[in-house]
Amino acid sequence: MKIIADTHTHTVACDHAYSTFSENAARAKTAGLDFICATEHASAMKGAPGPVYFSTLHNLPRVLDGVTIIRGAELNILDYEGGVDLTEGVLKNLEWVIASYHSVCIEPADIAAHTRGWINIAANPLIHVIGHCGDSRYNFEHKPVLEAFKTAGKIVEINNHSFHVRPGTHENCKKIAIACAEYGVPIVVSSDAHHATHIGELGDAIAMLGEIGFPEELVLNADSTRFLSAVSRVSGKRVTP
Ligand SMILES: [Zn+2]
Ligand SMILES: [Zn+2]
Repeated sequence: MKIIADTHTHTVACDHAYSTFSENAARAKTAGLDFICATEHASAMKGAPGPVYFSTLHNLPRVLDGVTIIRGAELNILDYEGGVDLTEGVLKNLEWVIASYHSVCIEPADIAAHTRGWINIAANPLIHVIGHCGDSRYNFEHKPVLEAFKTAGKIVEINNHSFHVRPGTHENCKKIAIACAEYGVPIVVSSDAHHATHIGELGDAIAMLGEIGFPEELVLNADSTRFLSAVSRVSGKRVTP
């Protein structure tokens, strides 16, 4: 499976990533990618940029080194009631909004709370992508959550970085991917790179999808037209490379 977009990347705009947009784009070009989503941590994470950063992303060139930059964010989920850390006014201008549970911003609770949390996130039309939900510290009930994601048109991310840093990811992601195929929920694979050398590193996620025979037509970033139409469907914005 050929992937054309890395849908989750960080830069020096936050204090724990180490490459610039230009370095990330150059690496993406080398890796044969056509797109990267710039999805910096939103403001509740220590060392992340403030709302002004996210509302001025239009100052970035649309294309760097032949690679199209999609303007996004990785929101921190703040509670189990749907709270996130950028306002509607900022979110409505973004093209690719991920929401994730990060333990520095929200303590893991129990399955009922994590499940309620994802269902509340699903109800927010300004959130497009479900970030690294294979993290076993935040296990949830698959059936109601995947049904909510399907109904709300959400995209589930299979995060390659998680395979190395988040406990239980491989088995959990496999079960989630099987459920996505069953419910017809589309997915993307991403690197969550915090340094340019990791852009386009997707091997573990792709191998796992191969193991379970995941249907390629549900992998939104395996085809440029499919990816751009997903960006436009979720964000209401037409991105022209
Ligand atoms: Zn994250
Ligand atoms: Zn991230």
